[in-house]
Amino acid sequence: MIPRKTMPSSLLSDLKKRMEEDRNLPLRSGATQLVFGEGDPDAEIYFLGEAPGYHEDQQGRPFVGLAGKLLNESLEEIGLKRQEVYISNVVRFRPPGNRDPLPEELAAFDPYIDEEIKIINPKLIVTLGRFSMGKFIPNAKISQIHGKPLFINWSSQEIMVLPMFHPAAALRSEEVLKMFKQDFKKIPQLLKEPVQVEKKEESTKSANKQLELL
Ligand code: URA
Repeated sequence: MIPRKTMPSSLLSDLKKRMEEDRNLPLRSGATQLVFGEGDPDAEIYFLGEAPGYHEDQQGRPFVGLAGKLLNESLEEIGLKRQEVYISNVVRFRPPGNRDPLPEELAAFDPYIDEEIKIINPKLIVTLGRFSMGKFIPNAKISQIHGKPLFINWSSQEIMVLPMFHPAAALRSEEVLKMFKQDFKKIPQLLKEPVQVEKKEESTKSANKQLELL
């Protein structure tokens, strides 16, 4: 019998189920529910935010509050619908009072994020905010590297990462909003013509070297 390739959608359902059942995941007790990623399982673009807020926690969906509204509008401005991309978060339960996620909390969710990215296999990962940026480009300053695409050696493959400000930060400052919109407009071109940057073996070294080149 010819083995059939498992569909990304069923791999994602399985991943979600395992996360729902994983009693070792932090932040569960203060949250209403797990907020898993959503969108096209074959998407070319994978958006990675921080953590669910109040509305996300209530609805069990990522980016459905004001930050999500800005994300949706920005997608439309570049001719994309929300359903055509994949949207996720580095942390999947709402931290109490929307506090920043702790390093050990980020670490606990990290293997699941890696698995999700492998299933989606996107052309481009857009990090929204400093916590998701930190997964690929540790110790960088978002104010210095936002809007600058990099190739990262992640899990033995080259992957293009575009660090961007978090939409919630863009909603707090006109100046950040302007940069957020400018960075967003780079996405269509990046999908057509990925930037040529020097490739190195290991992600941190690679990212730091590439930043020197920008
Ligand atoms: N902010 C995030 O980082 N993620 C969400 O899902 C909503 C707001």
